[in-house]
Amino acid sequence: MKNFRILTLLIGFFVLFSCKNEKNTPTETQKVLNEVSQNEQNFGIVIHGGAGTILKENMTDSMEIAYRNILEEAIRAGHDILNDGGNAMEAVTASINIMEDSPLFNAGKGAVFTHEGRNELDASVMDGNTLNAGAVAGVTQIKNPINLAVEVMNNSEHVLLTGKGAEQFAISRGFTTEDTSYFYTERRYRSLQNAIKREKVELDHDEKVSLIDPFILNTKYGTVGCVALDKNGDLAAGTSTGGMTNKRWNRIGDSPIIGAGTYANNNTCAVSSTGWGEYFIRGIVAYDISAMMEYKGISLEEATEEVIQNKLTDLGGTGGIIAIDNEGNVSMEFNTAGMYRAHMDRDGSLNIGIYKED
Ligand code: ASP
Repeated sequence: MKNFRILTLLIGFFVLFSCKNEKNTPTETQKVLNEVSQNEQNFGIVIHGGAGTILKENMTDSMEIAYRNILEEAIRAGHDILNDGGNAMEAVTASINIMEDSPLFNAGKGAVFTHEGRNELDASVMDGNTLNAGAVAGVTQIKNPINLAVEVMNNSEHVLLTGKGAEQFAISRGFTTEDTSYFYTERRYRSLQNAIKREKVELDHDEKVSLIDPFILNTKYGTVGCVALDKNGDLAAGTSTGGMTNKRWNRIGDSPIIGAGTYANNNTCAVSSTGWGEYFIRGIVAYDISAMMEYKGISLEEATEEVIQNKLTDLGGTGGIIAIDNEGNVSMEFNTAGMYRAHMDRDGSLNIGIYKED
């Protein structure tokens, strides 16, 4: 009987000890799971919707809410793809498609007008793993130019196609074309009229025209871009735009120029630019950031700050970039009053900004 009591006591202690132990010390399975999550490749996504003189005093509450909502919708679409194990290029195009379909941004549906009252769209993509790239410029009938840029990258032996030829290629690859009236928005058309008026004022200083129309001021910007790092460690970047209001002579900016508007390299980072394109071309801005990291061994943060705040600014250029490196560090650097932007990391925490102080 005594022996039996001792045995029960011992069993009791053993059960108590093993329960306690289970609580405080991770089991083998837990240990393995923790290790997997620690070693799991980081991933993340960043988008922009254009940089420029975006001031709070020129923005209505409803307009700001509309921008924040669409930025959130766009970044969540890309983040969901990455979270499900999809690749960075798929995430980039999904996010950009949402912004191209919105009239709020200067890309796709909301593209700005040329001097002649047309819409000429530019876009490019780059895959950081293969260093493959594709781009289109001056297309007038393609709803989502970023998809055509991907098509050029994947199904042609070229990098950059322009104008009618790019559209012929699109049709040959099964793309449907839009009537050019699809790209008409009242807002952008008024913006063109204002730009033409301003040009006139510059020519004739006596003419008094009110140019400070807040509604119009907000319509000058809105090129869209996205950079992403996926669970495989692959980087991708994409940029899509209508270019600059009142552009002439088939002017092409930096957005479809690999190295200026878009760049991705798994060894360093992925970058998408927005701003005054001529300066971004001359500064080879997107590639310069990657090259600084590669050759100087500096961080993404240091490289983007140097290129945007010093090199681009010294050149007289205005604008900004979004970038993500191969570890998931991000940068959203600009030298303008604002930049529409958003970032989501692996844990799904979301950060949306418009103004400098955001
Ligand atoms: N970078 C574009 C261009 O020059 C415009 C913009 O980003 O707002 O065409």
